[in-house]
Amino acid sequence: MDKIRTVCIPACENHEGFYKVNLLLNWICPICGEPRGEIKEGLSYDGSLRLNCNVWDNPCGHIDKYEDVRKEALQNGLNGANRTTKYVVNLSGGKDSTAMLLEILQRNLPVDYILFADTSKDFPQMIDHIKKLQEYIKKKYPKAPPITTIKCDKSFDYLMFEHIKTRGKNKGKRGYGWATMRNRWCTSTLKTAELDRFCKSLKCNVVNYVGIAVDEPKRLDYKIKYFKRKQFKLMKCYPLADWNMTEAAALQYCYDLGFDWGGLYKHFDRVSCWCCPLKNLKELKNLYKYYPELWQELKQMDERSFNRFRADYTVAQLDERFKRELKDGGGNDN
Ligand code: SF4
Ligand SMILES: [Zn+2]
Repeated sequence: MDKIRTVCIPACENHEGFYKVNLLLNWICPICGEPRGEIKEGLSYDGSLRLNCNVWDNPCGHIDKYEDVRKEALQNGLNGANRTTKYVVNLSGGKDSTAMLLEILQRNLPVDYILFADTSKDFPQMIDHIKKLQEYIKKKYPKAPPITTIKCDKSFDYLMFEHIKTRGKNKGKRGYGWATMRNRWCTSTLKTAELDRFCKSLKCNVVNYVGIAVDEPKRLDYKIKYFKRKQFKLMKCYPLADWNMTEAAALQYCYDLGFDWGGLYKHFDRVSCWCCPLKNLKELKNLYKYYPELWQELKQMDERSFNRFRADYTVAQLDERFKRELKDGGGNDN
């Protein structure tokens, strides 16, 4: 399967220790079709000056000369004016996708659309972050496309409490209830399906930039989706992994640029829906402690849901537990 990866290489033979270019490549050896090697940081020497750039050794033994790579990039439909592919950034708004987007713009990699899938359950601080990010991008990268918000025509609450299932073993049942590890219906319906639908509507090959850090290798899924009778394909690209950026580095990168999500990352490891039942107990306790209005809403949602919030606790039971713990002085935040 062909992966698409981003590399930073000398822009020309006499780079003078300065001229580099970021390119997208199909990660296969052009001679034998085997996968190329791991991307590493290295040096290029032009006879007088050195330049920090990417290097890789192909396991097949064929050597990729930068000159050939530049030619390949001009012809692979992925770069420059004659590209036939559209580039879509999946922006969840979290630290990883934010760092990825800003660095993509900084490296001048192609971007046609920046998509934010609105589930209506994001923290208010996240919505503020998206606005702030939009302002920042508009100022610093005036040529970048605006952030497009996409939204499923069915709401989170409708799907969770009202929707009548028409298939599967729960046919006829009302509402999907709380998401579980095995059934994250909300991610698939409100995010993945909407993002895919948008990409399909472009009617061309699409590269989807996804912000997954290098220290989460299990989540790097390069599976290609085909649509319109295999006429077009949707390919994933994970620039943070190509750049060796960890989750901690992504957060720091955003903090350094002044993005702090109103402190959300002090209370949560992952910032997604405030009502997510897949949060750990520490995060739920912080929700209870610092976001009491959202917690009240969570309690009401749990009363309406057909399934329990978690296998071990309902929200009401968690409420009791946290109240007791905080009274006993056990209110650790981290
Ligand atoms: S964050 Fe949790 S609640 Fe929100 S879409 Fe994902 S699984 Fe569902
Ligand atoms: Zn080869």
